[in-house]
Amino acid sequence: MNGYSIVPYTIAYANELVDDPIRFERHAYELRLTYHKPRRSDWVHGILRARVRDLRDRPALRGSERMRKLNTRRQWRCMNKRWCQVCGGPATDPATGLIPWALTKTVFERTGPDSGRTNAPPTCWGCIPKALTECHQLQKHFAIYTVTGFESAGVLADTYKSGDFGLPTLSRKNVFIAWDAHRYHASALAVAQMVELHGMRPVPVEAIPHAQAPVHVLSP
Ligand SMILES: [Zn+2]
Repeated sequence: MNGYSIVPYTIAYANELVDDPIRFERHAYELRLTYHKPRRSDWVHGILRARVRDLRDRPALRGSERMRKLNTRRQWRCMNKRWCQVCGGPATDPATGLIPWALTKTVFERTGPDSGRTNAPPTCWGCIPKALTECHQLQKHFAIYTVTGFESAGVLADTYKSGDFGLPTLSRKNVFIAWDAHRYHASALAVAQMVELHGMRPVPVEAIPHAQAPVHVLSP
């Protein structure tokens, strides 16, 4: 399909990664994380968001891809705009209005019979065969669903506590923090947006075009 790249849209490039130092500051009645030189755009609903650059459209500057690293900004954009995590195009099936979603065990937590939370953005039908054959992780435990809709649920975050000399020390990695779990917001550094999927229906293997890899339906 047009614009398809082997490097998925949400994958980070070396020169996009930023390690600006963070610290705790006193804010109202609590200590909250901040960057040393804060910008208003660092916070989303009161949670500090990990900084990254967005150089995907600047190949001369971006460096090589880092297949194990997500670009937090592009991941966020995919969730907000319902874009495909592979090609960065619209993911919704125009014929049915359903959104195809490729999920692995490691990025999915079931919350009900036909609902669950994930930090993986959708994958459009056009990219699913590519994802199946090219993504090694997906080939292990891979299931495809359609969903009728989804909503922002919170963030995937690393949490910090105030250590020696008031320096932030990592407390927990990759924990889900809901938008209404306010007591955890000040100590969190968000790395991805989490959404809750609704109306999930598994897609039978034989219905997936050119599916060659083993497909496992995640059990409820
Ligand atoms: Zn796509």
